[in-house]
Amino acid sequence: MTRRKSIAAIVVAAGRGERASANGETTPKQYRSVAGTPVLTRTLSALLACDSIDHVVTVIHPDHGERYGALPDLGDMRLLAPVHGGAERQASVLAGLQALAPLKPDLVLIQDAARPFVDSEIIDGVIAALAEHDAALPVMPVTDTIKRSTDGKVVNTTEDRQTLFAAQTPQGFRFPQILSAHMRAARLPRPFTDDAAIAEWAGLTVALTKGSAHNIKLTIPADFERAERMLGGTGQMEFRQGMGIDFHQFEPGDAVWLGGVKIPHNRKLKGHSDADAALHALTDALYGSIGEGDIGTHFPPSDPQWRGAASSIFLEHAAKLVAAKGGRIVNVDLNIVCEAPRIGPHVAAMRETIAAVCGISASRVAVKATTSEKMGFAGREEGLMAMATAMIELPRED
Ligand code: MG
Repeated sequence: MTRRKSIAAIVVAAGRGERASANGETTPKQYRSVAGTPVLTRTLSALLACDSIDHVVTVIHPDHGERYGALPDLGDMRLLAPVHGGAERQASVLAGLQALAPLKPDLVLIQDAARPFVDSEIIDGVIAALAEHDAALPVMPVTDTIKRSTDGKVVNTTEDRQTLFAAQTPQGFRFPQILSAHMRAARLPRPFTDDAAIAEWAGLTVALTKGSAHNIKLTIPADFERAERMLGGTGQMEFRQGMGIDFHQFEPGDAVWLGGVKIPHNRKLKGHSDADAALHALTDALYGSIGEGDIGTHFPPSDPQWRGAASSIFLEHAAKLVAAKGGRIVNVDLNIVCEAPRIGPHVAAMRETIAAVCGISASRVAVKATTSEKMGFAGREEGLMAMATAMIELPRED
């Protein structure tokens, strides 16, 4: 009796994924949501839906540990701890193969994180082909006529479309063969564009299996719009708005923190954290937009660990909560009311700081200031006030 072959899968998610970004969006594409679920989560779920797959390892960018940790828990023991990738895709795949080596799988499937619509039919087709071939990959016939041009200006020849196929993933291999081929390929000066190309170079036979028109790779913003339409048609988002307001008293000191910027002044703001009323108002505006309480709910003043804390921690937490819901910050608008210090010279730095913490471009951040014409507590310089609004876009909940 022959033992069932053990199968492992590698999901390659180590790219910076910035090509799909638009409008200052900084979330890498594999962590962006499609119809409310991150792309990488969809891809992992698709693989884990195949009972024949015994282990799945994700190769992530070394800077993306927190993003990966924030993905929904799939609660599947077959999903191994992620490993860090290298500078090129090829190095990342090799890292994944080396992480799997101790498990000695018979077969391995290598999957792009940005192809969340892979299904069991495609996967089973690749696995079945590996019974007879060293390697297999799903393909689609090329429907466009392909022209070859050496100078990019004038056509040299028209290719025979019948002999051309577009490669998809997962690409499947016999584990020891592809590990060995990858290790040898790593010594070459130029990387290959996919794993099948490494198998071809190593002299392995690579079979074609049936791909799917749905198995698209999300690369540019238009791909995400198409993906949204594929999943329930509308991919509808809705706008949400939040507001926040905060007051802090002055006390003796030499600088105030406002908008994440330290401004020399003959007083400081009194508070448990760094007392940055502007960031507090902004944080509450973001919490408000998703109905998630306020700054005191998440960071109780009674908790000594927030004593003197940089308020950017609070703002970052709120921005991450928005992202975790598949949302995106459209813009934030901040107003500071005080007689002194003068805010104008620091507006640019505040906008940059807030934009960086929120992961958006500075063009989406407004900072304004006014005095209260010497009236009231701000006019008497007993303290100051900040108000903020936030507009976010969120997958529609019905
Ligand atoms: Mg406050």
